[in-house]
Amino acid sequence: MKPSAYIGRFAPSPTGPLHFGSLVCALASYLDARHHQGQWLVRIEDIDPPREIPGSTATILKQLESHGLLWDGDLLYQSQRSDAYNAALAQLRNDGLTYSCDCNRQRVVELGGIYDGHCRQRQVGSESATRLRLPENGRDAIMAFNDLIMGDYQQNLCTEVGDIVVKRRDGLFSYQLAVAVDDHFQNISHIIRGADLLSSTPRQLYVQRCLGASADQVAAIQYGHLPLAVNAEGQKLSKQNHAPALVPGDESNNLWLALDWLQQAPPIELRREDKQYILNWAIANWSMASIPKTAEIPAPGAE
Ligand code: GLU
Ligand code: ZN
Repeated sequence: MKPSAYIGRFAPSPTGPLHFGSLVCALASYLDARHHQGQWLVRIEDIDPPREIPGSTATILKQLESHGLLWDGDLLYQSQRSDAYNAALAQLRNDGLTYSCDCNRQRVVELGGIYDGHCRQRQVGSESATRLRLPENGRDAIMAFNDLIMGDYQQNLCTEVGDIVVKRRDGLFSYQLAVAVDDHFQNISHIIRGADLLSSTPRQLYVQRCLGASADQVAAIQYGHLPLAVNAEGQKLSKQNHAPALVPGDESNNLWLALDWLQQAPPIELRREDKQYILNWAIANWSMASIPKTAEIPAPGAE
C-alpha cells in the first residue's frame, strides 16, 4: 500500500461563493483523501472570465479555510496554464486530431447537442472553434468506467456527444481540455465531484488518451460522482437560482448538515463541537458506500 499515491482535488470555478452544494463536493473530496492518507489539492478553474464574479476566488478560499478544509501544496490557477493548454492543442493538431469548426450554437442545438462532424472536411473562416476528432463509431468510441458512487457508466462518444470542442469559438480553452490536461499534470488519482459532471467524464478520459496517457493510466483514475443538492423546485443549487450563501460563523452546523446529507450518520452531539473535532470524526468514519446512488437530493431546508 502506497498511501502517497492518493491525490485528490477540489476544482471550483470562481463564479460566486460556495453554497451548500459546493461545500458538499469540497467536503466529500477532502474526507475521501484524508481517510486514505492522501493529498488534497485545490485548483481554481478561472478560464472562463465571462462567467466569473470578481472576488470569488478569495471568498471561496476563505470559506474553505473557515470550514477547516486546508489543502496541500500550492494552488493551481488555470488562468496561468495557457502555455500548457496551447502545447496540448498543438500536440493534438500535429497528430491530425483536430479541425476548425464554425458552426453556430443554433446549428448544434438543432442537432440535439450531438455534433455531426459537419466541418471535418470543410475549410472554415477565422472565427471558429477547434474540435477533437472522435474515432469512427465502434468499440473505440465507447468510453466506460466504474464510478465509485454511481457504478458502471459508459458513453458512446460518437452517438452521444460528437467531436469534442477543445478550444471555443470565443478563443477560450474549453473546460474539457483544461481539466484533462490538469488532472494528468497533477497526477490526480481520485476525482470526487458533482454528478452534473458524470456525462463529461468519458470526454475527459478520451482527451487524456489523445494527449498520450496510456489506457492503464486512464483506467487507474478513480471517479466518484456525488448526488446533486437541489432546491425545493428540484434545480441544482447555483448562483442563478439564488442558492443561499453559507452563513459565516455557522461552520460547525454547515459541516454537520453536509455530513448528514451525505448519509454519514453524524451523531447529533457532534453538531455542537468545533469544526476540527467534526472533521476528525468524519475522516475516521468516512464511508463512500453510504452515499446514496441517486442523481439528486434536496438540500437542507428544501424538502
Ligand atoms: N470547475 C468545475 C465546476 O466548478 C468543476 C470541475 C471538476 O471538478 O472537474 O463546476
Ligand atoms: Zn462545424
